[in-house]
Amino acid sequence: MLKANYHTHTYLCGHATGDVCDYVNEAIRLGFKELGMSDHAHTPEYFMTPDEYYHNYLQEIMTDSDFDNIYVPKVLEAKKNPNIKVFLGLETEYFPEFKEYFYELRKKVDYLILGEHFFNYKGANYSPYDPFTPRLAEVYTDIVIEGMATGLYTIFAHPDLFLMNYNGELGHRVFDKTAEVCTRRIIEAAIKYDVYLEINANGIAKGARKTDDGKMQYLYPREEFWKLVSGTKAKVVIGADAHKPEALGYEAVEKAIEFAKQFDLNMYDFVEFKK
Ligand SMILES: [Zn+2]
Ligand SMILES: [Zn+2]
Repeated sequence: MLKANYHTHTYLCGHATGDVCDYVNEAIRLGFKELGMSDHAHTPEYFMTPDEYYHNYLQEIMTDSDFDNIYVPKVLEAKKNPNIKVFLGLETEYFPEFKEYFYELRKKVDYLILGEHFFNYKGANYSPYDPFTPRLAEVYTDIVIEGMATGLYTIFAHPDLFLMNYNGELGHRVFDKTAEVCTRRIIEAAIKYDVYLEINANGIAKGARKTDDGKMQYLYPREEFWKLVSGTKAKVVIGADAHKPEALGYEAVEKAIEFAKQFDLNMYDFVEFKK
């Protein structure tokens, strides 16, 4: 059982259920001491073409006015609950060319989570949800490191997302030299910029698939990634990435806790936010 969770969505993102108060009540029932709300931040339309925008389901995510008029007031109301400490956060991508936008968002919340679900490269949009090449893994790594270096982000959600559909040179689900280099660079940056790396339970809930060595592995977290985190000073936190209230305490969270135990990780129950 977790003592806190900082990765929590609400119905406002369009692909989750439950309101802020439903997550707060469930967290209290589970005995959590802290709950961070981190719904997906609105991505402005000018970040990509209408097709790309639609492909990433961004039209369903809360607008800036939903954020100001619905999300923030609900979380501020929840903060008054004497039985749990609630924090106001957001999960965002990082796009280097639109840094200023993320700095503006940061001012409005207690913390930001970095979750890189898509990014631009040479004029096109790519996502780790689609087949991923070594070159794209490198681009993903460059961008997330730049994101961590801004100091905007407290937690890096599912840092190993780039491995989900990573096919290496041969078109198999592998962990090759490029994957290893990318992983080591991410770990090094997380330590340098003091960002918590997250073991994401939602990836566990999505199931498992065979890797090239014949092993069934979760879509994420991936063992090869966390084996390299093992023994380092990188701070690690488990995130429910809850998209329904019961996901704060469901089986996938227990499996994430078990997953973490295989390694020598610098685990944190509670997160300290950046000023
Ligand atoms: Zn989501
Ligand atoms: Zn999330």
